[in-house]
Amino acid sequence: MKYERSYNFSAGPAMMPEAVLEEIRDEMMNYRGSGMCVMEMSHRSKVFQQIADEAEADLRALMHIPDNYKVLFIQGGGTVQFAMVAMNLMKNGKACYIETGAWSKKAIAEAKKYGEVIIPASSADKNFSYIPDCRDLPIPEDCDYVYICENETIHGVTWNTLPDTKGHILVSDQSSMFLSRPCDVSRYGLIWAGVQKNVGPAGMAVVIIREDLLRDDLPSFVPTYMSYKVHADNGSMYNTPNCWAIYCCGKVFRYLMEQGGLEAMAQRNAEKAKVLYDFLDSSSLFRAAVTPADRSVMNVPFVTGSKELDAEVVAAAKAAGFDNLKGHKSVGGLRASIYNAMPREGVEALVDFLQAFEESRR
Ligand SMILES: *Cc1c(COP(=O)(O)O)cnc(C)c1O
Repeated sequence: MKYERSYNFSAGPAMMPEAVLEEIRDEMMNYRGSGMCVMEMSHRSKVFQQIADEAEADLRALMHIPDNYKVLFIQGGGTVQFAMVAMNLMKNGKACYIETGAWSKKAIAEAKKYGEVIIPASSADKNFSYIPDCRDLPIPEDCDYVYICENETIHGVTWNTLPDTKGHILVSDQSSMFLSRPCDVSRYGLIWAGVQKNVGPAGMAVVIIREDLLRDDLPSFVPTYMSYKVHADNGSMYNTPNCWAIYCCGKVFRYLMEQGGLEAMAQRNAEKAKVLYDFLDSSSLFRAAVTPADRSVMNVPFVTGSKELDAEVVAAAKAAGFDNLKGHKSVGGLRASIYNAMPREGVEALVDFLQAFEESRR
């Protein structure tokens, strides 16, 4: 059976691989002879434990996660991690945050509730259209960690060279680029990602944390649920986890392995993004918003220069089967999110559409 599906350029929740959705559909009523749907299963059952174990093992294999890192599945999505990072890692009450767009700003605002936030570099001066030079930052000796948002979903900038943290722990929000390219986990103290951008359904974050950062001595105001160590000690099942999201994410991890892993995804993503950026750079109507060296291959913001025309393009695109191209309300314009699951044909079809629109305006 074939379904009528649109090319969905949403920033999140976003497209999932069609092959994965079909597999989930086929297992919906009776998961592998268990007589029930994964949604109906006890998280303490053997069958679900196996789903969770396989999901973790596949993610470890995909990212080559070293043994001294824990993998946690934590509910609450990305925003809860803004608080958890600060609550768990601010030992001296001081941390450095690099300000590169809307999501690092959110993280900064949340961290300020728990301690002192130092911003050693920012790209606010040019409306977050580039990544600042972070090769030699003034980082205080007693700072607990350096925090980055590795891909700014709204502004469309991405880190291609990690900052020199001068020996301090690096913490990264990888939400909108998680599993889009290879990642050397050993360079980080903690990586987290809300899964609804590049992996699965909303409502959960994956956290990869170096074991020595798990603490027993958290301040007493920290809720039990907000302790990374509690999640680690209980195999991400201190309470009922987001079973459905773990199951769906596991399917995507396995799918990515079958597709050739993260090297293959990186190559495909780069080629796919090039199709769109090449068009934008040659267009006389549309323009990409970000400095070439720092452009995201996941989120591509672009503008015509006129608000009215931007809105016209979004409406015409929607009518032609291209969904969710409106830029975030804080920046306007258009944005095409082209995560792992967006096929190259979707990007090519979008470029054909934009080209035809441009010609119609000559
Ligand atoms: C979407 C997003 C978040 C927030 O995720 P929620 O699950 O909506 O809380 C945080 N960081 C980045 C980079 C994001 O793209």
